[in-house]
Amino acid sequence: MAYKISDACISCGACAENCPVAAISQGDTQYNIDPDTCISCGACAGVCPVGAPAEE
Ligand code: SF4
Ligand code: SF4
Repeated sequence: MAYKISDACISCGACAENCPVAAISQGDTQYNIDPDTCISCGACAGVCPVGAPAEE
């Protein structure tokens, strides 16, 4: 199961900087996770200030 970023995302970029497999990219309104690349390590959830990434 991959992680997914909710619309609570404030686009701070912390998750993308801490993803070990570069699965997170900036979108128009929020950051997004490529589910095929995500290895579900949880690092993004650990650094997000608003709790936006969660396991699907
Ligand atoms: Fe990257 Fe890990 Fe978050 Fe998946 S769970 S997007 S691998 S930091
Ligand atoms: Fe959005 Fe959280 Fe990632 Fe920041 S760390 S870009 S608020 S999901």
